[in-house]
Amino acid sequence: MTYSDAISSEALTELRRRYRQERERRVRPDGTRQYLPADARFGYYADDPYASEVQEREPLRDRVDVAVIGGGFGGILAGARLRQQGVERVRVLEKGGDFGGTWYWNRYPGIHCDVESHVYLPMLDETGYVPEWKYSPGEEIRRHAVRMAEKFDLYADALFSTSVTSLTWDDSPEAWIVSTDRGDKFRATYVITATGTLSELKLPGIPGIEKFEGHTFHTSRWDYGYTGGTPDGGLTGLAGKRVGVVGTGATGVQVVPKLAEDAGHVYVFQRTPSSVDVRDNRRTTARDVGADHDGWARERRDNFLRIVSGETVEHDLVADQWTATAGLLEKLLPGFRRPADRQAFEAAYEVADAAKMNEVRARVERIVADADTAEKLKPWYRYACKRPTFSDAYLQAFNRDNVTLVDTADTHGIERMTEHGVVVGGTEYALDCLVFATGFSVGVSGIHSGKLSVRGRDGVELLHALKERGPRSLHGFTSNGFPNLIQLGATQSASSVNFTHVLDEHAVHAAALVAAAEAEGAVIEPSREAEDAWLAVLAEGAPDHEWFHAECTPGYYNGEGRGRPNGPIAYPHGAAAFHDLLERWRETSMSEVLRVGGPA
Ligand code: NDP
Repeated sequence: MTYSDAISSEALTELRRRYRQERERRVRPDGTRQYLPADARFGYYADDPYASEVQEREPLRDRVDVAVIGGGFGGILAGARLRQQGVERVRVLEKGGDFGGTWYWNRYPGIHCDVESHVYLPMLDETGYVPEWKYSPGEEIRRHAVRMAEKFDLYADALFSTSVTSLTWDDSPEAWIVSTDRGDKFRATYVITATGTLSELKLPGIPGIEKFEGHTFHTSRWDYGYTGGTPDGGLTGLAGKRVGVVGTGATGVQVVPKLAEDAGHVYVFQRTPSSVDVRDNRRTTARDVGADHDGWARERRDNFLRIVSGETVEHDLVADQWTATAGLLEKLLPGFRRPADRQAFEAAYEVADAAKMNEVRARVERIVADADTAEKLKPWYRYACKRPTFSDAYLQAFNRDNVTLVDTADTHGIERMTEHGVVVGGTEYALDCLVFATGFSVGVSGIHSGKLSVRGRDGVELLHALKERGPRSLHGFTSNGFPNLIQLGATQSASSVNFTHVLDEHAVHAAALVAAAEAEGAVIEPSREAEDAWLAVLAEGAPDHEWFHAECTPGYYNGEGRGRPNGPIAYPHGAAAFHDLLERWRETSMSEVLRVGGPA
């Protein structure tokens, strides 16, 4: 694979034309409104198929030190890091029946991580666990979540099958009143929200979706009672059945090959093809990954983050497609995160991108035998327009007689559904089962959707404040008017493709804030001036992504084709630099956010 292939300016012009044409085929006037949340009419899509029975229990009225909302990796890491700081009463509240978050809900056949396990699974140094695969199957990841929760004794106080409905700040004594859908009403001195970015599953608003009489479910609520089998396959219940899949994102790409192994026939309803690169999954040993000394996992994880954040490092320890792509930009334009010359940056970026995407399209042509199908599977957009995917089985599945690709781009997706199946281009595809691999309302938490009401000091409603004045925070974690509330996640902090690493750094930070507040007898609350100063940092270096996203096919990266939301949303210099900044701030400026006495 070489990236130095020259791409002529004519070829670039032609690519730009083609990309625009493909984008225009797909942009819909209803944008993000085209989707339906899985509640109200469609709540049954969101039911928990994995909690065999919900344990009856008395509502709680007690007090804890910290309530952590969400039992995914964010919540577990927050709990673990709090334990390391000596915090005793930590209560994790989780909607699902166990720890795991995304990896609790998503158990579809073929599920794997697409970031290397040895950097994705947190706290490998602390737990002594060494993953068995370069890219772990979902079950190995879920088990690791449980391992961490056990190690840090988070089960004792955890509440499962419980959704927090409101948080209300009480000034006297200073604490949050936490209410849940199980009738709990207890106090917590601190609240950490770790509600994730992929928790609200979404369905396409296809006309007639409610009419379908066949079996149907969302991939994050897989119905093994119907399909038989396990995430490894063996879906014997689908023998002889006609199965449709809507969605060809990272989930669809993993599910389709497994369905193809067992179903009578699989119809893949595609709107935009994913870019599908080499996966090269393999078993690994401790020796392969250098797991022979303390701190090996932390070193590997830092190395990966620095590379994908655009920094130069001596050795690429992970050496996969993510680091290769970052390395490609680095070769064309050293220091690509902070380009001195914007134009040179954009030009180099476009060449690198075109080379990469030409390679991805050539791979489709090499693998898929039928020329018409291959053509439809080629992604015509720039590399980072959509989340890249990796598979050595997806494209190959279209060479099977029992798999049919149904392209829906010309009709902006599936036209309508009937009691028997799905209609595209006037043709009805009769189905026994329809699987929605249509993803989530990315970045929408219960706070944004209104399911979790947060009332801070003086009864100020957080959602109202967000709508009125936009997000305001120090480092993305804490906000004036919402004392002792720490939000883990990406807004106004910095994210990365290796999201668990980001969550861990945030958890370390949150636990340090709590420990410092406890030591000082203080309340954690930034001043408005501290928020203003942080907003200025975000604004100052904010790269202009509009030019890029305006030319992309629609998706959740660009508000379904409308470009990014206005205003600075993330720390502009990448996650690695952000973590360095946090560490320095903890050493020198922590007192900035600790308030002793009345509100500022
Ligand atoms: P996505 O949102 O990425 O994909 C949804 C799919 O549904 C798209 O292909 C979309 O097409 C399609 N779709 C939506 N509406 C319609 C319609 N009306 N007709 C036809 N098709 C439609 O969801 P995923 O579940 O794939 O991924 C969700 C998130 O989870 C992503 O961030 C992903 O990266 C992550 N993930 C990560 C994995 C990992 O290993 N780390 C594994 C799996 C998922 P279109 O593109 O045209 O909108």
